[in-house]
Amino acid sequence: MNSNTAIHDDDKLQHETWTLEADKFHEECGVFGVFFEDPARDAAPLVYYGLLSLQHRGQESAGIAAVKDKTIECRKGMGLAGEIFTPDILSQLKGAAAVGHVRYSTFGSSTIENAQPFVSRFKLGSIAVAHNGTLTNADVVRELLEDAGIGFTSSSDSEVIVNLIAKNYKKGLEKALTDTIKFIKGSYALAVLTDDALVGARDPNGIRPLCLGKLSGGWILASESCAIDAVGGEFVRDVEPGEVIIINRDQVLSFSFSEKTRRAVCAFEYVYFARPDSVIDQVDVYGARVRAGEILGRESAVQADLVIGVPDSGTPAAIGYGRATGTPFGMGIVKNKYIARTFISPDQGKREKAVLVKHNVIKSEVRGKRVVLIDDSIVRGTTCKRLVAILKSAGAKEVHIRVCSPPVQYPCYFGIDTPHRKDLISNGTSASELGKSLGADSLAFISVEGLLESLETVGFPGVLDAIGDKSGDAPVSIKAGPGRSYCLGCFTGEYPIPVSGETGE
Ligand code: SF4
Repeated sequence: MNSNTAIHDDDKLQHETWTLEADKFHEECGVFGVFFEDPARDAAPLVYYGLLSLQHRGQESAGIAAVKDKTIECRKGMGLAGEIFTPDILSQLKGAAAVGHVRYSTFGSSTIENAQPFVSRFKLGSIAVAHNGTLTNADVVRELLEDAGIGFTSSSDSEVIVNLIAKNYKKGLEKALTDTIKFIKGSYALAVLTDDALVGARDPNGIRPLCLGKLSGGWILASESCAIDAVGGEFVRDVEPGEVIIINRDQVLSFSFSEKTRRAVCAFEYVYFARPDSVIDQVDVYGARVRAGEILGRESAVQADLVIGVPDSGTPAAIGYGRATGTPFGMGIVKNKYIARTFISPDQGKREKAVLVKHNVIKSEVRGKRVVLIDDSIVRGTTCKRLVAILKSAGAKEVHIRVCSPPVQYPCYFGIDTPHRKDLISNGTSASELGKSLGADSLAFISVEGLLESLETVGFPGVLDAIGDKSGDAPVSIKAGPGRSYCLGCFTGEYPIPVSGETGE
């Protein structure tokens, strides 16, 4: 379809807008926490800046909870962090420790009730939980808690965690956390605020990222290292799979709640979700993307005059492809960044007109040329199809699609919004058939081995400063974890933990 015709057809436009919105996997959430040792300081303003830096992980709602004098106050709302947290609202959040959350709904509907952090106030204290991930046994745990008389205010699986911790709290924080964490299954990166501590925890496979940073007089927990950089902190290290870190005024305590850990961080973090200036589990995201482009060039080079990336996440791989094949790299496509939210709000009626202004072609760059178009992934294919059409209508002689992730053929069960398997365009379709259906002259994906190679070859040393107690005694040693490995479930159908309905039909 020539996209220019769609502007006059509101029904088609609405449909296309929706499918474009759903044409990428979407990260579910980002978490951020700050703990200052000085009780006179306020953590919420820093958490706000952290959330702004994690906004790419969720644009539907945002929230911050802060604790002062053993009282947790929480403010949350629908929309972007910058819209919700006016100076007036931020000034209501007092206290030296705070956690924040940005959300894109997958589990639970898009309502303020499901916005995080979730706060529970009970006889022994109060806690606030910010969760990134999805519990695979949330229904079972919710039923057990409801049978025990515990009420829920939302449909979110994250509320299960807060209620479970609250239920176990009489055993003490450490025991409550370990009991809770042993009970829940699935993916979780948690930032938990109690009356006097900030706690981080990562599931035994480390599917969703979480890292630790240091500030002058304080500590940070963040989904991505880019947010630590943004608040002037120093990246310390990733929270290990199966690790809990408790930060309070006396100490920073780290312990492992699970002996059986097999690291399986989501490979899609490196392909698309994470910001390129982040480092996750010692792998530099930008470097991995460039390397994936180089490998793609080695695996499936084509004669061409220009290589361009689908902005923004296709750009590093296009640079890599250009380096590996000697194809000149150019810009080619411009993305309007200021309408991003229009595309990601899951359920609103204001998106109709935005689709046609999301991408445009620099005609002088592509006219008369054989173009290689690099995309990070193909989910439904609608974006690629449209880009091929506008490149050709701008005068490109040939358009060859190269994709720096393997075909997405299976759904994700670990906190990522995915369409039904039948709607994944690579499911049951060969690359050449798919290329034809998208109007391209050829199409090739990176192999699974190639993707893994891109992640194994750009190891980042990190700053593995050990954490210790405040007295400067021997620090808690950091175990050398098991070898780096990845979740590749949506590419291979093999998941790091059992899921129900693995075929995803
Ligand atoms: S299935 Fe695994 S690799 Fe794919 S998006 Fe989910 S967590 Fe990431």
